Amino acid sequence: MKIAVRGGHNYLATGCEGLINEVVEDRKVKDSVIKYLKQLGHTVLDVTPGNMDRDSDLIYGVNKANNWGADLFISIHFNKAYNSYNGAIGVECLVYSKTDNITLDEQVATRIQNALDGLGFTGHENKSRGVKENKELYELRATKMASIIIETCFVEATEYVALYKKLGHDKIGQTIAEAISNKKIEVKVEYDMKKISNLLWRCI
Ligand SMILES: [Zn+2]
Repeated sequence: MKIAVRGGHNYLATGCEGLINEVVEDRKVKDSVIKYLKQLGHTVLDVTPGNMDRDSDLIYGVNKANNWGADLFISIHFNKAYNSYNGAIGVECLVYSKTDNITLDEQVATRIQNALDGLGFTGHENKSRGVKENKELYELRATKMASIIIETCFVEATEYVALYKKLGHDKIGQTIAEAISNKKIEVKVEYDMKKISNLLWRCI
């Protein structure tokens, strides 16, 4: 599958700021998503903008994905609802429409939502925030292909920022890539024959 991946916002047109900074973190998650998608055999284009104004920032990634003819567009964000929040506000995935003729977006978004919920980001009172529709957001309405915005966690919510830090961006990226692909990264176990023979020799 041809997948365009974007980290939201940039250092001039910044995202949200709380206990963590959205732009700083979405770049890390985006890099891991790309790394693991490639390992899973996909063709990936990084459509993350450099430093530019807010409108150009959005147009840049969407145009790149449209011109390339991506099958799927994934945009990594973090969310914010309050100035500060003592507790847990979970992950949410956004798609343009659940009832249009593009179904890949809600299929993949549901898998991502379930996988991230499975890591512990289940939201208020263990209830998933679920996959939401949004027809306003430029990244969803201007992309020609199935597109998904992932709001990884809320930057001001103490509990899930702690969980995000504990798991690390690489684990989150791997989980997203595996959910997109609907398969797991194979862990190759390499045997060190010298160590094994040493061990055997000592056992005798
Ligand atoms: Zn954002």
